[in-house]
Amino acid sequence: MKIYPLRIGRTKVPYGQFYGGLQGFSLADFAADKDHFIWVPIHAYLIDHPTVGPVLVDTGISAAQTAHVDYYAGSIMEHVMDVDEYALPADQTITAQLGLLGYQPGDIRAVIITHFHEDHIGELNLFAHAPVYLGAAEYAARNDRLLGLVPLAYPPSIAAVSDWRPLDFTGPGIGGFAGSADLFGDRSVIALPTPGHSPGSTSVLVDQRFLLTGDAMYTIRHLAVDQVRAIQVGDESQYVDSIRRIHWLRRAVPELIILTAHDHTDYGTRMISGLATGELADADLAWAKAYEVATFDEMANLNPARLPRFVPACRAGEVGHAA
Ligand SMILES: [Zn+2]
Repeated sequence: MKIYPLRIGRTKVPYGQFYGGLQGFSLADFAADKDHFIWVPIHAYLIDHPTVGPVLVDTGISAAQTAHVDYYAGSIMEHVMDVDEYALPADQTITAQLGLLGYQPGDIRAVIITHFHEDHIGELNLFAHAPVYLGAAEYAARNDRLLGLVPLAYPPSIAAVSDWRPLDFTGPGIGGFAGSADLFGDRSVIALPTPGHSPGSTSVLVDQRFLLTGDAMYTIRHLAVDQVRAIQVGDESQYVDSIRRIHWLRRAVPELIILTAHDHTDYGTRMISGLATGELADADLAWAKAYEVATFDEMANLNPARLPRFVPACRAGEVGHAA
C-alpha cells in the first residue's frame, strides 16, 4: 500500500511551543514571545488503499486561513497570532497536492482526522462527501473551546461534514496501546488513541510500519518526553502517557517509522522526501534506523548532542531555526 506525504504550506511557531514544555515556557509566553519563531512544515498524508480507494489523514490549512484578519475575526486568536502565522503557496494547497497524484477532492473515499486543530482540518469542507473518522473524545469535544476562548474545531472547516465516524478503540491492543480501531477490516489502517495534545488526538498505524502521529508528537525528538516536551493546553499527563505508549509500540515494531505533521528535523525531511514515490527505499529505511540509533538510547532518551536548541537568524527581523 502506498502512502504519500502532502505538503500543505508551513506555519511559524514559537520555539518554546515545540520544545520548551520542560523549561517553563507557558501559554502566556506563547502569546508574548515574538523573538524565537521557527518555521515548521505542515503535512497531511494520502493512503492509497487497494479496495477503499484514496484515504486522507488530515487536510492541512486552507488559503482562507492565510487571510489571517478575516479568518480569526471576532476570536482572541486575531490578537494572539501573527498575521503571517501561515504560508500556503499555490502549489501546496491540498487540491494542488492531490492533483500531483492524479486525484481531485471528490475522489477521496474517507478522511481520518488526527485532531481538530485548524492546521489539520483547514479544508475538511472539500471532503464533506466522505466519512470522517476521528477519536470519539475529539468528536465529543467538537463544540468545546480551548481555554474557554478559542473553538477547538473551527466552524468553517466542519460545518458541511455530515458523516462523522467517532472511534471507540475497542479492538485488540498493540504495543503499548490497550485498544485500537481497525478502520477497514484488513488491519492495514489502524487508529490508536494518543490523547493529550487535544482531548481525542488519534494516531494512525499504516501497514504495521508507518505511524502518523498528527501532533501527539511534533518531531521524532519528542519521543524523549522526559527531556523534550511541547507546551500543553490539554492534559499533560495524557500527553506524556501517549508518547510512552508510542515508545512501547516502537519496541514491539522495530521497523516502525514515525511520521508527524510538523517534523522539521533531518529525520522528518528525509522520510518525507523519501516517500515521494509512495514507498520508502531500503536505503531510506536503513538511514532512519541508523539515525534513531545515533539519536536515542534504549529508553528513547536523547543523545545530548541531539538536544534541540534555538538558533537566531543572522539578520534582525528574520525567523531563526531549531538545531
Ligand atoms: Zn499541528
